[in-house]
Amino acid sequence: MKIAIYPGSFDPITKGHLDILKTGAEIFDKVIIAVAYNSAKKGFLPVTERVELIRKSIEGLDNVEVDSFDGLTIEYAKKKGAKVLIRGLRAVSDFEYELQLSQANSALCEDIRTVFLTTKPKYNFISSSTIKEIYVNNGDISKFVSEPVYKYLMDLKKNTK
Ligand code: ADP
Repeated sequence: MKIAIYPGSFDPITKGHLDILKTGAEIFDKVIIAVAYNSAKKGFLPVTERVELIRKSIEGLDNVEVDSFDGLTIEYAKKKGAKVLIRGLRAVSDFEYELQLSQANSALCEDIRTVFLTTKPKYNFISSSTIKEIYVNNGDISKFVSEPVYKYLMDLKKNTK
């Protein structure tokens, strides 16, 4: 069984992430999308909420599991029996960081490979940070996130006013 991990912050999950996930689910037998606890990045939403929002956004993707993890991605992958990490590439600007990260991971564990996927062009520019910026400035984010994420963020705004 070919298992792949799609690790990331997903703060929150976007249509870009979902497009990558869908492609991954077509290629691999099982994809585990896993929210990483990252001590270096101050999060926007708590990890538990991010996991819940992913769960609500993946209807129809039957071979996808949602989880969160602490510590090294390769240790988590080993624990799950996965040999592949999925990462997304948007532009050249992602490439340098992603290549370095994938090489560091293969230096730590040779058996685990990273595959890079791209989205449909219409989702390519979407990032969680762009969405947050539009959201805090009261712009329309409905095109960039799933219905459950949109609803959650709109309710959050209402309740924090
Ligand atoms: P991280 O903090 O680990 O970079 P993110 O949640 O920002 O986590 O992204 C997870 C992965 O998804 C990264 O590999 C990122 O490049 C990729 N990604 C995010 N948005 C897009 C997009 N619109 N198109 C392609 N890849 C994307």
